[in-house]
Amino acid sequence: MKTIGLIGGMSWESSLEYYRLINEGVKAKLGGLHSARCLLNSVDFAEIEPLQRLDQWEEAGEQMVAAARQLEKGGADFLLLCTNTMHKVADAVQHGVSIPLLHIADATAHAVKARSLANVGLLGTRFTMEEDFYRGRLSSRHGLDVLIPEEEDRRTVHRIIYEELCVGKIVDHSRQEYGRIMDRLAQRGAEAIILGCTEITLLVSQSDCSVPVFDTTWIHAEAAVEHALSGKLG
Ligand code: GLU
Repeated sequence: MKTIGLIGGMSWESSLEYYRLINEGVKAKLGGLHSARCLLNSVDFAEIEPLQRLDQWEEAGEQMVAAARQLEKGGADFLLLCTNTMHKVADAVQHGVSIPLLHIADATAHAVKARSLANVGLLGTRFTMEEDFYRGRLSSRHGLDVLIPEEEDRRTVHRIIYEELCVGKIVDHSRQEYGRIMDRLAQRGAEAIILGCTEITLLVSQSDCSVPVFDTTWIHAEAAVEHALSGKLG
């Protein structure tokens, strides 16, 4: 089994999910007392979030590269960046190490296409919903049609992530808001919704949505288990 290197802490609430899902995945495949070989490098999100907000992505990238290198030195065979948003600096991370980075948007697109779906709604931070590194990758690399919420709804989705989910607050009213926003995307033609932020799974589940939901945390963790147990590293 290969060793999974997790760059986490963004937020730790979702890193906990990764740790659980990866171990459950290995146990489901190997049984008995098996658990995942993994290393978690958990950063202080209070140091990263301002860099996002103030558009200091180069500095954010340097911090992610430093975390990735520590994992590589520690013996990780491949890496997961346990956040959709920080994939904005995925190329810098990949160039900074010699082990592969398993990209969350690629794993998600493969899962969507495996269900023969092409029109997806995307929820996430404003960076993930609006910028090319994620939304663009889904469409240009994977041929998906990506719908995002209207401006005001995007603000709501983004605010709930940072002010509630990343600090461990699960609020019923916010779940209803997400439900309404997902329904609106479905009415506009989305055949499925990508939960493109690793904390959204803490708030909503399939029962809150009328079309299939694709949970990036689960998909990414599952892809990591597949890689860890497969012969190839790429
Ligand atoms: N974990 C979140 C994501 O998947 C948001 C926190 C962050 O900005 O990294 O995008």
